[in-house]
Amino acid sequence: MTILVTGGAGYIGSHAVRALQRAGYRTVVLDNLVYGHRQIVEEVLQVPLVVGQVGNRELLDKLLSGAHPAIGGEPIQALLHFAAYAYVGESMANPAKYYRNNLGDSLTLLEALKSEGERRGTTPLPLVFSSTCASYGIPDPAQIPIDESCPQQPINPYGRSKAMVEQLIADFGAAYGLPSVIFRYFNAAGADPAGDLGENHIPETHLIPLVLDAISGAQPYLRVFGDDYPTPDGTCIRDYIHVTDLADAHVLGLQRVLAVGGQHLFNLGNGTGYSVKQVIEVAQSVTGRGLLAHVVPRRPGDPPVLVASAHKARRELDWQPRYTDLSTILEHAWLWHRTFSP
Ligand code: UDP
Repeated sequence: MTILVTGGAGYIGSHAVRALQRAGYRTVVLDNLVYGHRQIVEEVLQVPLVVGQVGNRELLDKLLSGAHPAIGGEPIQALLHFAAYAYVGESMANPAKYYRNNLGDSLTLLEALKSEGERRGTTPLPLVFSSTCASYGIPDPAQIPIDESCPQQPINPYGRSKAMVEQLIADFGAAYGLPSVIFRYFNAAGADPAGDLGENHIPETHLIPLVLDAISGAQPYLRVFGDDYPTPDGTCIRDYIHVTDLADAHVLGLQRVLAVGGQHLFNLGNGTGYSVKQVIEVAQSVTGRGLLAHVVPRRPGDPPVLVASAHKARRELDWQPRYTDLSTILEHAWLWHRTFSP
């Protein structure tokens, strides 16, 4: 069975390709390579890479039907959709870029899934969509841990673009029977334990790689964005989830939607929160090295606490995350970091 993975050259998408490979699926990656890495797909994962835009309808039709030379006549059975821009600050400065790419292109994609289903005399092809806890905005503290019923009130164009795609998917489900799984991730972190895949955002904005940069000397120090939050140590609390556990959940979600169809929605997190200061402490103990950290003003739009309730995914998908411990997440991140950012 061949699965099309949009954004498969990115951080989470590349780990999902690996999880699909381990589960015995053939994959093809569609990525515009604006932020993704060609070498990861071609040399590490060794799967066909089609460089293009998700909003290119002609290209999508060729890929889905199997007419594209990269697929060699094999029609696509389902699609995992990771391709998106994900820099909150950039989305505030340039919302058009985010709505065009994340929302507009996703609409084209849904239409292509529907047409390909019609051509085959079936429902639209099944879709697994990568959404985000950023769609919850700044939740009321009484709603923590956050389950799937928490209202979505995103506070920036990135979060809104993801929440809007969720709405499109729900509407396509109601009108055309689009089979779908939506995953709302908390903080993806870590790297494949094999050490050859990991987080490589350019520019990097995420806490764990920046902590490791400050430890390895790639950056002179870490900026801690605010220590005056209403949390025990004053720094923000997040739910860090190992990217391999996230990727495994996608395989389970895919298997579920292929087997029973329908529309499904799951949070993915560990249900445990760690503050920025705790992440720094664990990183120092895992690496055996110190780092310089300077407290700077809060970063606009950062909620004080985001912690998931992911019971639904555990219960309904039988998802059993393997690397829930923050030290393991950091060990794997460090293994990757040492190899690729000396
Ligand atoms: N953070 C920080 N310094 C950095 C990057 C992040 O203090 O250089 C904090 C950020 O304010 C947030 C947490 O680390 O509280 C996680 O941020 P990240 O960007 O990794 O993920 P987010 O939760 O924003 O998606």
